[in-house]
Amino acid sequence: MKNNDYDIVIAGAGASGLTLLWYILNSEHLENLRILLLDQSLKPDNSKTWCFWNKGPFPLAKLVYHSWKKLEVRTSENRFAESLNQYKYQCIRSIDYTKEILYLARKSSRVDLVETSIQEFDFKSEKALTITDDGTYSSELVFQSVKKPKDYHRSKADNVLLQHFTGWEIETSEELFNPERAIFMDFDVPQQNGVTFMYLLPYQKTRALVEYTIFSESLLPADVYEKELKRYLAQKYDLNEESFKILRKEKGVIPMEDRKYNQWYCQNVMNIGIIGGFAKPSSGYAFMRIHEQCREIVNALENNFALPDRPVSSYRFRVYDMMLLYLLKHEPDISLKIFHDFFRKNSFNTILKFLDEKTNFAQEVTIFSKVPYIPFFKSIYKMKHRIFTGA
Ligand SMILES: Cc1cc2nc3c(=O)[nH]c(=O)nc-3n(C[C@H](O)[C@H](O)[C@H](O)COP(=O)(O)OP(=O)(O)OC[C@H]3O[C@@H](n4cnc5c(N)ncnc54)[C@H](O)[C@@H]3O)c2cc1C
Repeated sequence: MKNNDYDIVIAGAGASGLTLLWYILNSEHLENLRILLLDQSLKPDNSKTWCFWNKGPFPLAKLVYHSWKKLEVRTSENRFAESLNQYKYQCIRSIDYTKEILYLARKSSRVDLVETSIQEFDFKSEKALTITDDGTYSSELVFQSVKKPKDYHRSKADNVLLQHFTGWEIETSEELFNPERAIFMDFDVPQQNGVTFMYLLPYQKTRALVEYTIFSESLLPADVYEKELKRYLAQKYDLNEESFKILRKEKGVIPMEDRKYNQWYCQNVMNIGIIGGFAKPSSGYAFMRIHEQCREIVNALENNFALPDRPVSSYRFRVYDMMLLYLLKHEPDISLKIFHDFFRKNSFNTILKFLDEKTNFAQEVTIFSKVPYIPFFKSIYKMKHRIFTGA
């Protein structure tokens, strides 16, 4: 192996970098690629729980930590619970995912791993360059999930929100949870800071991850999230601080933006993961979209096709996300009513298919006809400068 020169540099060993590496290592056609994996920390940590739903077999199914047959949504007026006959809602812990893929990487003679801080990317003399504290690495291609492109803040974005949350994995002495049913969204919480809900993933009758989640423009002081978690556990489960143990804390901020993401940082340096715009703007779910992107990249590498750099979603779904983001930002009360009717009048299977962007236009018209649709016309009017110019 030439010093510091690789076929591919994967910059960032988070969900997207590791997923891309996993697909490359599992490709019979890419066995000759020399790969460098870089991250500021290559120590697996238990900081994230990635949930997703899918129908068919999931390639890393052995890493699934828990899955739920039923989902429930609660509002101040109703509770909607349903068995998922077509999908499985499941979660993987970042610690298990990272351990497994780093183990495979270390076992492979064609992958080098370096723990270093990445400073910049560049393209010179027909090579992509990754400039790190440890030196500069050159490669044919870089897939990076660590740095926002320089033009990020200049790229078109009208509705920019954050999905911000803090969660506690708790253990209780009493059996309070149903490990077969995840609470997808419980909107029956104070709504003064933006559209707000609790997300509750029971792993056992006495153990659950509960997350206080908000869609809004700015973060809250750190103590507010924890105060709201305490309040919720007291009100809904009659738990005071002595009656549960916090096993782990998790917090995060996911962009929810109608931004026109640029897939390229510079020539031969592709943005992947959240930085590449792979979080679904109206929900923040990214894990399965990252898998789809990585499968497409590997397919292109195997077949010598151009790398996929079209927008993540089709025009129709970009418009729907834009309309929903507009309403979440400008009309939080109406958004709550829309969520209520969305979950009351559609089956979870339809909803998950819609969120997966796998519905057809006729199904989407039916879905929208069941929620207050006048606000959507208003959002189309307000967003016409984007909607009628390609979104
Ligand atoms: C707590 C949390 C929970 C989430 N849960 C879900 C979920 O349930 N379902 C879902 O679909 N999505 C979820 N998401 C959204 C999304 O799936 C995750 O954010 C996912 O980790 C994104 O992958 P990524 O590769 O883009 O970024 P990351 O996983 O954050 O990876 C980026 C990597 O880059 C490294 N890095 C950053 N800067 C540098 C630097 N300068 N030098 C070197 N290395 C650097 C970091 O150490 C990190 O390992 C969640 C997000 C968070 C934060």
